[in-house]
Amino acid sequence: MYRSILTYSVLLFTVMMTAVYGGSTPQTSTLLTHVRIFDGKSNTLIKGKQVLVVGDKVAKIAAKIDVNSSTKVIDGEGMVLMPGLIDAHTHLMVVKPFDQAIYTYEPTYIAAVATEAARRTLMRGFTTVRDAGGPVMGLKRAIDEGIVPGPRIFPSNAFISQTGGHGDFDTSMTYLSSYFTGQMDKAYLFGWTYTADGVPEVRKAVREVLRSGASQVKVMGSGSITGAHDPLDVVEYTPAEMKAIVQEAKKWGTYVMVHAYSDKAVRMAVEAGVKSIEHGLMASPETLKLMKKKGVWLSTQCLNYSKNVEDFNVPMPANVAAKFNEAKKSAERVYGLAKKYGLKLAWGTDTFGSLEVQDTESDEFTARKKYFTDLEILKQATSLNGELLALSGKRSPYPDGKLGVVEEGAYADMLIVDGNPLKDILMLAKPKQHIRLIMKGGKIYKNTLQSGK
Ligand SMILES: [Zn+2]
Repeated sequence: MYRSILTYSVLLFTVMMTAVYGGSTPQTSTLLTHVRIFDGKSNTLIKGKQVLVVGDKVAKIAAKIDVNSSTKVIDGEGMVLMPGLIDAHTHLMVVKPFDQAIYTYEPTYIAAVATEAARRTLMRGFTTVRDAGGPVMGLKRAIDEGIVPGPRIFPSNAFISQTGGHGDFDTSMTYLSSYFTGQMDKAYLFGWTYTADGVPEVRKAVREVLRSGASQVKVMGSGSITGAHDPLDVVEYTPAEMKAIVQEAKKWGTYVMVHAYSDKAVRMAVEAGVKSIEHGLMASPETLKLMKKKGVWLSTQCLNYSKNVEDFNVPMPANVAAKFNEAKKSAERVYGLAKKYGLKLAWGTDTFGSLEVQDTESDEFTARKKYFTDLEILKQATSLNGELLALSGKRSPYPDGKLGVVEEGAYADMLIVDGNPLKDILMLAKPKQHIRLIMKGGKIYKNTLQSGK
């Protein structure tokens, strides 16, 4: 009896202290009123509801929410409240062309510029990104600790690539094979890429990447446009290597995303159990149908292929320009087919190489408009991308709430925009002008509403 009273008292004390202190810091609360809501999933706006944010989550959505004086109230002025945007394919650290970022500049310079890239990404309304490769872990840590502003990051960290594949970035004339000469490759040293060949090596590379905190594994599965050494048509890795990579990721409870252009490469990845195909432009109708059947995501980018060679600020060598034009030809076809077959489509940009190129991120909305309706695009950039990122399972860095939706229990990552994105998606291409409030995890990063003045 005495023991059970003591146990009860200790328990009660713990509950009381938790209630008082809410873990460590007292929780702030914000009530958003006078808004129309796009919840990320519905086909129409929800009217007549208020949204209460407590701490970093949406606590309640109801017609009338009573709050005390410590709650900050924001009048949304009748504008649209929507989920924060998600970009499913960024490279925040790639603020210079790959080879220069790795081999030419000081790592601290690259990190400093990438910090600014992250801030700008958030200020364009992207509250979450899936980073498709690059040593982004330190930047993510500083953002999550609230030291610098930036989006939530699902990091892939080092690319896994075969020798001579898309992740083998050294273009210098003085290149020495690391394997045969014992010369350290800076790309390994700073966690940009691991070139691994054969089943034991790829297993090791995946384990290294997962050890570094990656939420998913990024593999180079085919030739590329910008790659220094690989023609576009080549398949990288063998089915046995790809299956081993997928198996290692699965054991860790997560999934693999593969850079793949050619049909053969896409098909091999899909058959090996890869869940997210990056680019995938040359996939045949049969392969796309197989992707649909297996629930594999097509994570493609419209902006890059809406451009012409001369539109890129950086001069393109002739062989790269030829590869680009070949991929561009396939782009239109694949979007049409993906839509026809009802594939799961991610919204991503793959804008990298300089801050100026990264700054074109929001133009993806404009480029997508050629193929998809405003509502389709809006869902891709919010709830669908949220669903894709959830494939990281327990390896998600943000496992306590949903992303890409406005609903009770979801992370309070939200925007207020001064128009109806269901009818005019292009306003999201002008974030500075039209995004009036940016909230991530309950914290406000921008507010140009009356309440912010
Ligand atoms: Zn990429």
